[in-house]
Amino acid sequence: MRVSTATSSRSDSRVFTVVVQGYGTAQARNAERSITVPFVRLQTVMQSISQLGGKVLSVTPCSEAPAPAAAKPAATKPATTKPAVSHADVPVNLYKPKDPFVGSVTENYSLLAEGAIGRVNHITFDLSGGDPQLHYVEGQSIGIIPDGADANGKPHKLRLYSIASTRHGDNLEGNTVSLCVRQLQYEKDGETINGVCSTFLCDIEPGAKVKITGPVGKEMLLPDDEEANVIMLATGTGIAPMRTYLRRMFEPAEREKNGWQFRGKAWLFMGVPTTANLLYDDDFNRYQAEFPDNFRYTKAISREQQNPSGGRMYIQDRVSENAEEIFTWIENPKTHVYMCGLRGMEPGIDEAMTAAAAAKGLDWAELRPQLKKAERWHVETY
Ligand code: NAP
Repeated sequence: MRVSTATSSRSDSRVFTVVVQGYGTAQARNAERSITVPFVRLQTVMQSISQLGGKVLSVTPCSEAPAPAAAKPAATKPATTKPAVSHADVPVNLYKPKDPFVGSVTENYSLLAEGAIGRVNHITFDLSGGDPQLHYVEGQSIGIIPDGADANGKPHKLRLYSIASTRHGDNLEGNTVSLCVRQLQYEKDGETINGVCSTFLCDIEPGAKVKITGPVGKEMLLPDDEEANVIMLATGTGIAPMRTYLRRMFEPAEREKNGWQFRGKAWLFMGVPTTANLLYDDDFNRYQAEFPDNFRYTKAISREQQNPSGGRMYIQDRVSENAEEIFTWIENPKTHVYMCGLRGMEPGIDEAMTAAAAAKGLDWAELRPQLKKAERWHVETY
């Protein structure tokens, strides 16, 4: 290995070319690659390469060091002063737990194919007749207060669910809201326990009345920009907000209604245990067929596919496979990332982004808070 750092006295502005092998995602591992690294990042990058099993072949100063500002790729730019996502006109808490809106169920059907694990239902409520009218935008949640009382005889507390319909509702009339709900079930002392609210919702019949609160949430709002790029990372029912975004972007009647002519690129990563557990899959396949230049759909089917280590294929493994490309998207200031579902996916996604950032001489631990501040990194996980 050749290491030379001795040609310049401009210590802070120096830039180096690091030639490395055996580093990066699967396809890139065998190739020899050059990475341009500013002096201040050199040590961190070398450590990260070594931790990830890469071999540094040489480190040489670039003959012409770019000016410090030019040395930083776009992704490291601090937050823009204007928020990327408009918070104006986003309704919040129109109905509170003490005085909820009472809606009625219009439909409740299973989203799963035969052989799927568990129960996941799409449930729609009629919101008409409220004063004020209960309305919401894509990316928000509503609260549901299940009927009945808890073990102490007190009314049940509300549970929040991400909204799965656009503001226009599935019927496009602007007076309904839909949810995507998995029945929570777990074993305790040899007994199967059913989640109170999720079971209430999965069992509910059309016509039944339901106490609804909200809407709440400004973390998962879509940008206004019709040319934004949107990366979506969802596990299971975490698909709910992504379905609203994708309908807003690609569902023909919804597009006509909303007048939002999305022209950017969208990339959905979806994690489910089996093919039969895929949610809204036919719609997403249709969008992919109709908008091949704008929509990519990547699935991680954990109990049918294996990751490179022979374990279950999780969404973070798909992110890892595509980390360089995802990172290139993120370097574009028009790109937003949305994550919804199981919290367990977060460390693996961070790991993949850390490697992709390091390959460009950047530190993900520094970059991620900047993306968050710029309202381009949106996370709602449990
Ligand atoms: P699920 O069907 O149980 O799981 C979805 C997929 O995630 C499965 O393939 C599962 O694999 C995989 N998985 C398990 N552990 C993982 C990990 N550590 N990293 C990555 N993937 C992992 O999902 P679900 O029951 O619908 O649950 C979704 C979760 O999202 C719930 O916790 C729910 O509360 C939450 N959620 C959050 C929001 C929100 O934030 N607003 C909205 C909706 C849902 P295996 O089971 O095969 O291991």
